[in-house]
Amino acid sequence: MKTFEKVENKTYYFSSCDSCEALCCDGREGSLFAQIILEDFEEVYKNFPIVFILGELGFLKPVILLTNGKSLCQYNKDFKCTIYDQRPSICKNYPLSPHLDNSIYIDKTCPATKQRGETIVKNFNINKNLNTYDFDNYQDKYIKTHFHFDKYKNLDNLEKIITLNAVDFYSIKTNSNDYYIDLHHKSLKNINNYYII
Ligand code: SF4
Ligand code: SF4
Repeated sequence: MKTFEKVENKTYYFSSCDSCEALCCDGREGSLFAQIILEDFEEVYKNFPIVFILGELGFLKPVILLTNGKSLCQYNKDFKCTIYDQRPSICKNYPLSPHLDNSIYIDKTCPATKQRGETIVKNFNINKNLNTYDFDNYQDKYIKTHFHFDKYKNLDNLEKIITLNAVDFYSIKTNSNDYYIDLHHKSLKNINNYYII
């Protein structure tokens, strides 16, 4: 299971994925869904279902369904990503992750972080040759995303469309003139037999 920890003032390395059976792409290892922000919608809607979960205090959070919780991501073949250039930011950033507190987090369970390799973080700074994602402003983007969907959180607007590993995922029913809701609706074509098991 993934265990993200806030990075400390030291050097973190990444060796290689060569001898790993794609643990980060495996629903049996805890990769079920990932929270996204508005900037992610265009990148993911063609390949993944964008759905919503009800978080703490009834907050509505957009997420993508990465796996069905019981197998590898459907885009993983022979432990390799078949949509590498179009993979979501969550995958591009891994084993790093942005956080609401604007800190960088790292999954210490990724085997490649346990051996010396390329430097990925040093003194709280990410190696920009490896990752150009804007971790610094994640808090603002997260809050903007939250407020964008806050108006839809009334249960009358929501339809439960799938339950995976005891987590309920919702669609927003409204047809309002909202660019992100439109991408959400288009993305639902990706809920296919892979997820409905
Ligand atoms: S990033 Fe880590 S968990 Fe994912 S395939 Fe590479 S070594 Fe395995
Ligand atoms: S999109 Fe690629 S990197 Fe991301 S979970 Fe699927 S197979 Fe893994």
